[in-house]
Amino acid sequence: MSASGKDSPFFFTWQRQRGAEGLHLRGGSGVCFETDEGRFVDLGSLVYQANAGHGQQRIIDAIKAQADELCLSTPQAIYPAKEALAEALLARAPEGFTKVFFTLGGSDANENALKVARLFTGRYKTISRYRSYHGATFGASSLTGDWRRIAVEPAMPGAIHVMDLDEGMEGTQIPRVLELEENVGAVFLEPVVGANGVLIPPEGYFQEVREACDRHGALLVCDEVLTGFGRCGAFFAFERFGAQPDLITCGKAITGGYGTLGAVLVHDRVARFFDDEELVAGLTHYAHPLAVAAALATLRVYDEDGMVANAAALEGPLKAMLGELNGDAPRALGLLGAVDLDLGADGLKLLGEALRRRRVHVHLKGPRQLRRERGGAVVVSPPLCITEEELRAGLEKIGEAIDEVSE
Ligand code: PLP
Repeated sequence: MSASGKDSPFFFTWQRQRGAEGLHLRGGSGVCFETDEGRFVDLGSLVYQANAGHGQQRIIDAIKAQADELCLSTPQAIYPAKEALAEALLARAPEGFTKVFFTLGGSDANENALKVARLFTGRYKTISRYRSYHGATFGASSLTGDWRRIAVEPAMPGAIHVMDLDEGMEGTQIPRVLELEENVGAVFLEPVVGANGVLIPPEGYFQEVREACDRHGALLVCDEVLTGFGRCGAFFAFERFGAQPDLITCGKAITGGYGTLGAVLVHDRVARFFDDEELVAGLTHYAHPLAVAAALATLRVYDEDGMVANAAALEGPLKAMLGELNGDAPRALGLLGAVDLDLGADGLKLLGEALRRRRVHVHLKGPRQLRRERGGAVVVSPPLCITEEELRAGLEKIGEAIDEVSE
């Protein structure tokens, strides 16, 4: 957010480097983070991972204690926190999920879900949507439908994309594409499209996809990297739609952002296959103790502070507050909400500046992210510890900033 003024010794992500602006981050507490420019209210949970809020001492203490106890590990290691975390994650998944594969983040969670699906089904084709982001590694980039895939093509063969939800289509194209393509191994869905504008599927959508996957022998993978861990008012977002996946991929808020971890949760009907077949997958830092300790403590914080229930309770107020902004189509599921703005690329840039002056962090989406000729959106995703008053104060600032640039 503040230009450093000098050439950086490291790369900034997803942009050309000249003129790149960084954020001089110093710390934070609750729903705010501190920078050299001052204290920002974090209505974006940084990049959607800070669900437990900033400066969570219970998580920090757990990491320190784990560092003293056991800090170095090997993929085959068994230690108490690793077992406890796998059990805690499975306890929060639907009945029948029996195994966890640990990863370092969300991209490689999807990467390893791809492998599991390919090994299990023997099929290499996948279906995902244009309005989706599944990660930056090569397989996950191939699944991704948004602009971040295009630059690295050709990537993984067999990655099929379908239009959905935002293109005025009735229902979903997925059953028909499964039929026409045959031999699809997996369908990857963000239960709610997150970073690409918060698209909430209509009733019946998930059931339709689930039934089609069953008919055609494809696995359904829910990418819960952004939507999981309470963000959408349930522990996993798919719970809001009444259908269950075969694999669940996790990342981001699994540690509240306090450690680098991801996971693939696997249903028993898939997991059992690997009893007698090799699971050709692994990572040096598989279940690193510091990340595992962070995740265990984060799950405890979500429970102790009732954060998932708080996200559910604030869904209505957030949607109403978004409706008061000078925009269109306010929508929210839990504490993931958005409103569309028709400001154009220049207007969005001005809005970004107006928000920065007010020290508000949210996610702004322009035509490039939305894959449209024009349009934009503000995506709101505060830490799940936010109060209604804090939310209202933050949304009022967003409203002021929108009004300023709309004049
Ligand atoms: N999947 C979704 C839905 C995401 O939003 C992201 C990150 O934004 C990823 C996967 C990739 O996660 P990571 O950046 O931790 O690799």
